[in-house]
Amino acid sequence: MSRDRILKAMSRVPRERFVSPTLESLAYADYPLPIGGEQTISSFETVVLLCTALLLRGGERVLEVGTGSGYQAAVLAELGCKVYSVERVAELSRGARKLLDRLGYLRVLVRLGDGADGWPEYAPFDRIVVTAACPDVPRPLTEQLAHGGILVLPVGGRKSQRLVRITRRMSGQFMQAALDQCNFVPLLGKWGWAEEPHCARVPRLSGGVLPGGGPWG
Ligand code: SAM
Repeated sequence: MSRDRILKAMSRVPRERFVSPTLESLAYADYPLPIGGEQTISSFETVVLLCTALLLRGGERVLEVGTGSGYQAAVLAELGCKVYSVERVAELSRGARKLLDRLGYLRVLVRLGDGADGWPEYAPFDRIVVTAACPDVPRPLTEQLAHGGILVLPVGGRKSQRLVRITRRMSGQFMQAALDQCNFVPLLGKWGWAEEPHCARVPRLSGGVLPGGGPWG
């Protein structure tokens, strides 16, 4: 799907509604913003990057790992996808669900849990996108990928990763392509990192804005 089409879909999603009122004026700045629970809404360009990497055509069933604010899920819905999104932080999951309902995104289902376990009841998925950095590819996600499906996720260390696209061919064979270098917040849980004390918290400046060198995601 072209960048133009993705930008058009994004223009229909009121990004300022997905951040706190005090950060509304920064909603379109190209860096991630805090959303509570020590997490971030991905920067505008990161959302474009992930949507582009998914090679969407429209109409796909997409599993998103890391609902966060719900913004990426809303954009995927605007691109014609049916979205199944999983978030491990209860307050974020609740907040995203409420906001997506209020904005009329009925094609987005949100669940609280460890997204790296996927969502077996709705598998297989045509696309899977992980919006947090993975030390490795979580096996349940490749197992829940449809034949002909695509999984996009950042893989690497806690500070820096490579965006990876895994394609499951119709034959069942997996192909892997390395895309851009990136910097996402860590995936936590059994397929990710332990929450504390090792997990680096997302740094904040006094105004609540992330410094330039912080994670994109
Ligand atoms: N897509 C989100 C948005 O549009 O606002 C941004 C997501 S933020 C960069 C990464 C999210 O992944 C955080 O909300 C974090 O709580 C979540 N996360 C981290 N580990 C997770 C896991 N194992 N399962 C589900 N969500 C997880």
